[in-house]
Amino acid sequence: MIYYSTNKKAPAVSLREAVVKGLAPDGGLYMPERIAQIPQKFFDGIRNLSFTEIAETVAEKFFGDDLEKEKLDAIVDDTLSFEIPLRQVEKDIYALELFHGPTFAFKDVGARFMARMLSHFVRERQEEVNVLTATSGDTGSAVANGFLGMEGIRVFVLYPSGKVSDMQEAQFTTLGQNIVALEVDGSFDDCQALVKSAFMDGELNERLNLTSANSINVARFLPQSFYYFLAYAQLMKRTPAAGKIVFSVPSGNLGNLTAGLFAKRMGLPVERFIAANNRNDVFHEYLRSGKYAPRASVQTVANAMDVGAPSNFDRILDLYRHSHEAISGDIASYRYGDDEIRAAIKNVHSRTGYLLDPHGACACLALKEGKRSGETGVFLATAHPAKFGQTVEACTGTSVQIPDALAAFMRRRRHSVRLPNDFCLLKKALIDRS
Ligand SMILES: *Cc1c(COP(=O)(O)O)cnc(C)c1O
Repeated sequence: MIYYSTNKKAPAVSLREAVVKGLAPDGGLYMPERIAQIPQKFFDGIRNLSFTEIAETVAEKFFGDDLEKEKLDAIVDDTLSFEIPLRQVEKDIYALELFHGPTFAFKDVGARFMARMLSHFVRERQEEVNVLTATSGDTGSAVANGFLGMEGIRVFVLYPSGKVSDMQEAQFTTLGQNIVALEVDGSFDDCQALVKSAFMDGELNERLNLTSANSINVARFLPQSFYYFLAYAQLMKRTPAAGKIVFSVPSGNLGNLTAGLFAKRMGLPVERFIAANNRNDVFHEYLRSGKYAPRASVQTVANAMDVGAPSNFDRILDLYRHSHEAISGDIASYRYGDDEIRAAIKNVHSRTGYLLDPHGACACLALKEGKRSGETGVFLATAHPAKFGQTVEACTGTSVQIPDALAAFMRRRRHSVRLPNDFCLLKKALIDRS
């Protein structure tokens, strides 16, 4: 498969190059030149297929030209080594629980897939690469755990000292092996600027073969379409006569939503999508007005959605040939403040017993507001409530049980390298440790 840049000013590349490069040299995002259709026959029988059979079929449509079937199936099966259950919350409303992976958030799917695919490409050429990533919390945990123990790959996670949660820090500073945590005296923006400088530094790139595990990477973004098919299969198993299906997606950088749009384009019977925004409502405003006005983000209780300039917006434009009408035909949107998100956690818990995290709560709210009668709604529950335990406990008044595997991170010894916000010292630290 050939991948082109959304900016159309860089040459088209192979899958391998798109994965190793991440961003196109013209600053655009890579898009597959074709989105293959999956025949109706597959959907008719989908309720009888296993998770891995479904995901392997979808993966083959994107990556089948580039990887042998056996190799690709192994990557898919290894990525999905945990449950992705669909749970009924109330009448016609279901939660797709994407938080049963190693770091208890949906980013595990994309990060695990990308790690395995990159490792495959690196071993093929007996290369070594160094992955550099800045995190405000969740990305670092998913990437570090996804890449843990991968041959030929070292991962550097830059994070702002004192500005990630205790639990998040435990998830990427306790791993050891090929994972190095760099604790920067500065903000998340400073970390991101340092990473950018590193990618611009010719010498560093040459010596370390740098790559990014950013969410714009096609190998992180495309596999996220798998679980829309998995949700559909589970729904067909439970209620074969389900009405028209609408997915509600808690949105930040729009990677998750865009993967759903790809699934629809492949033929998945989805009526439409709902994008749920917190107060960072740049996408909601675009759908409403047709004007895209990125701006600085503000902090909310659903902090993984605190994005002021959603990086996958260009992919959505490209997918719909820049037609605002077509985009707003497939996607509705709603936005909520912190108080509304907190109230939703409390209300859903007291009425149904179901515990939401703030991101899932935002999507659940949008679904309840936007779902039309006769539609069956699925919202994406992107994080385990225990990851945001304090917020959730304050809303419900009951304590949140922490899963053993999450508690285990907290007991392990932490290691990080403390660095001032200084590029020269970062460069030295990277070279010394690679
Ligand atoms: C990253 C994240 C999101 C936002 O996903 P995008 O693909 O960036 O839109 C939502 N919820 C959680 C818990 C996240 O970690």
